[in-house]
Amino acid sequence: MTQSRGYAAQQSTTPLAPYSFSRRDLTGHDVAVEIEFCGVCHSDIHSARNEWGNAVYPMVPGHEIVGRVTAVGSDASKFKAGDRVGVGVIVDSCRTCPSCKAGEEQYCEVGATLTYGVKDRYGETTYGGYSNNIVTDEHFVHSVSEKLDPARVAPLLCAGITTYSPLRHWKVGPGKKVGVVGLGGLGHMGLKFAHSFGAHVVQFTTSTSKTADAKRMGADDVVLSSDPDAMKKEASSFDFVLDTVSAVHDLNAYLPLLKRDGVYCQVGLPDQPPTIFMGNLIFKRRYLTGSIIGGMNETQEMLDYCAEHNITSDVEVIPIQQINEAFERVLKADVKYRFVIDMASLNEP
Ligand code: NAP
Ligand code: ZN
Ligand code: ZN
Repeated sequence: MTQSRGYAAQQSTTPLAPYSFSRRDLTGHDVAVEIEFCGVCHSDIHSARNEWGNAVYPMVPGHEIVGRVTAVGSDASKFKAGDRVGVGVIVDSCRTCPSCKAGEEQYCEVGATLTYGVKDRYGETTYGGYSNNIVTDEHFVHSVSEKLDPARVAPLLCAGITTYSPLRHWKVGPGKKVGVVGLGGLGHMGLKFAHSFGAHVVQFTTSTSKTADAKRMGADDVVLSSDPDAMKKEASSFDFVLDTVSAVHDLNAYLPLLKRDGVYCQVGLPDQPPTIFMGNLIFKRRYLTGSIIGGMNETQEMLDYCAEHNITSDVEVIPIQQINEAFERVLKADVKYRFVIDMASLNEP
């Protein structure tokens, strides 16, 4: 067993606090990683507070993991000790169902194993990246370029791939008008990718204070979504809208942005369902869809794309002792634009 230290939620209502636990011995294809940085995703807050109703405690959150390989199992061949790697939202899947075979492990028909808060194939609870190390099958570990700042890479493992994948799937590129709703962890990566892919990008935000940052990250325009006149001006003009909002919001204010046959893709996962006026879909044959992270090959493709184009997350690096304050600031949409925990801080009091 590998001894691990991290921060865990003991219940939905308790703050995260230091927690010691163990991880399995390396099996054939496993890789042991010493964690350097872990991003703070809004999903960590939904999960730790049991907002989706499926939490398992104690819960060590964290699925935006970057670190260095310390050991590999006897059959593992992808990595060697010292390699910089990343681990994202899933750590296992069946590998044999049609989705797994298609490289879409995140849609595994048996159910992919989440990085934290579920039982894995060994019958053990998975613990995430708010900790000093992790043991994971090499198939779910990705190579990270030494060219990039590892703290700024960590959010790519969830916020990055979650926005990259639907933008690629729906062929966002030159000649397309694309909206990104919400400028948080996911939103700012969606904005950077859509801009990099050559689309005309409009950022929708509820925070006027984020306008200059959105322009710096590549927005051609920034629209205050709470201003009905400004929203009306943009009506029926978008090919694709990526909605990254974490809280319940009125989709009927956003669906009219799409032109005929336009696609509204939801990646934000609020804890309550929306109410939709069907006319907003019917009258222009609009599509409403969703997307979850990306497959393992696509995650590597995204990381390589980021290394080639020098794309990383805008981060506020924090010691783990500040995690509970960080959660509160994320809930107020007050993060520029992803908190990332420096795991060396685990050694501090
Ligand atoms: P985040 O950093 O908190 O960003 C969410 C943004 O939404 C906020 O910064 C804010 O942007 C906007 N917002 C918040 N409340 C709003 C409201 N009431 N009305 C309109 N806009 C509002 O969160 P995140 O880490 O990017 O995660 C976003 C969501 O995606 C979460 O629900 C998370 O669980 C989910 N998620 C899904 C996947 C997936 O695979 N599908 C992966 C990761 C995360 P402005 O200040 O610009 O308005
Ligand atoms: Zn996430
Ligand atoms: Zn499968």
